Amino acid sequence: MNYCNHCGQKINPGQEFCFNCGAEINKQQGQSQQPGQYYQKPSSTQSQDSGSPGWGILGFCIPLAGLILWIVWKNDRPRDSKSAGVGALISVIVSAFIYIIYFIFLVALISGM
Ligand SMILES: [Zn+2]
Repeated sequence: MNYCNHCGQKINPGQEFCFNCGAEINKQQGQSQQPGQYYQKPSSTQSQDSGSPGWGILGFCIPLAGLILWIVWKNDRPRDSKSAGVGALISVIVSAFIYIIYFIFLVALISGM
């Protein structure tokens, strides 16, 4: 809610002049929040966003869960999001690596026989 800088009367959103004293409303004033501040949430959410390695382990064990958490928390809990995302990524890479090794081993085995 904005207030008139001259007389303190309540100003509705979109209102250009104060109904009480007729002063012009400067839209920049009264809204102290700058655009960037919306993305840096205060301590209430930051305390939850611990970036705990537990989320990484979860992401590693269940890559799908890690992927979902990574997407869901991207804005609200960037550190936890990154932790879960990295865990899921490592899990996928390790799985792919094992699969490739297994595949090479299989090909070598078949071609050797
Ligand atoms: Zn006024």
